[in-house]
Amino acid sequence: MVVTGAVAVLAGPGVEHADDVALDDGSETVTTLDASGCVVTPGLVNAHHHLLQSAFRTLPGTRGVPMAEWLPAMAAAYNAAGIDAELAHAAASVGIAESLLSGVTTVADHHLNWPMGAPIDATVAIARATADASRALGGRLVFVRGSARDDPDWAGASADAIASALVPHGGVTPDGLLQVAVGPAGVHSDGEATFAALAEVARTHGLRRRTQANEQVDVAIALERYGRRPIDLLDEWGWLAPDVTIAHLVDVTPDETRRIAESGATGTHAPGCDVPMGWGIARVHELLAAGIQLGLGTSGGGSNDAGHLLADARLAMQVSGLVGPQLPARTALDMATRGSAIGLGRPELSHLGTGSAGDLCVWDVSGVADAGVADPVAGLLWAAPGRRPRDVVVAGRPVVRHGALVHADERTIAGDLSRLLARRAAAG
Ligand SMILES: [Zn+2]
Repeated sequence: MVVTGAVAVLAGPGVEHADDVALDDGSETVTTLDASGCVVTPGLVNAHHHLLQSAFRTLPGTRGVPMAEWLPAMAAAYNAAGIDAELAHAAASVGIAESLLSGVTTVADHHLNWPMGAPIDATVAIARATADASRALGGRLVFVRGSARDDPDWAGASADAIASALVPHGGVTPDGLLQVAVGPAGVHSDGEATFAALAEVARTHGLRRRTQANEQVDVAIALERYGRRPIDLLDEWGWLAPDVTIAHLVDVTPDETRRIAESGATGTHAPGCDVPMGWGIARVHELLAAGIQLGLGTSGGGSNDAGHLLADARLAMQVSGLVGPQLPARTALDMATRGSAIGLGRPELSHLGTGSAGDLCVWDVSGVADAGVADPVAGLLWAAPGRRPRDVVVAGRPVVRHGALVHADERTIAGDLSRLLARRAAAG
């Protein structure tokens, strides 16, 4: 495929031009995508989502409440609906369709909630249903076998079975469309045994590790339970390492920032969750200045309600000035692409140069919302909040054309989830 005529092409950090972009789509014939009046960027990489929560947005009792009330309100909703493969498929279809339609070509789904103590096969079915939803729409998925107060042995056995079933030849499928990783929710929910069990699975299968740390609740619980701060515990438990990515990092001290940087661990900024939850604003400037590779994530619908990563890149810029220098648009875009991909061990997902995986977005900037914009790349973030790309390409193949999914109908996917939730509410 060749993409022609763009106003600007952001091929990677500091690489901008208006030349054609050639992508290998595995085909002998060359298809042309006319990008006149458009800006072309790499596909966005959402480094932190909880796709299941797409079924539980704006839930009563989860807005403007402390985390100690949020968690049981969400848990009650999960129990009432019943977490199984059917719900996981419907919620993931919604979350991934929303992602593709907003320019996110790769979603890292930190799946934390499981039917506690269910047969291992049932957990594999949930992971497979999520992966099937992504594949049917043409997206890339990183399924993170998470844990939130799971029994350590059961979580380890489930993660091992999921990796064996979905990525038997290493952490990523040969076509690059599916990756598996592991990740406890954080030291506030899981103990050392769970971190150790999931680390063992990661070692065996060659998987990346992910967790969350240092929203205020995480710090408070760690202090109360262990008399230590989360970064101390992660360090002690072997989870400050180059293969680990830590989401949130809101309340970190300068010393902790230095230790994270020295360890080679990466981070994920998630202001679309941190701000509405009242956790504060991560000091992105200081984290980046210390040398920590930072990606961007939306977190899930239970806190963010939207899975629109570009909108959260805009939010990241807007709130950055409250805790330091304002984040430039190109830095925010770099986090939403390269930074996220590095944390996944997949730099090829985030650029359009040699060795690129072939994921890109074509953003139409010819309308009134972009008129008068002096810098079309900065305008992508500052102008037209909530914009959707005109076309999205994954692995050289279109998955969104003229603002619509290529492989499914957006409204059918939304209707399927609504009907499933209504049926289960009626049965409950
Ligand atoms: Zn999260």
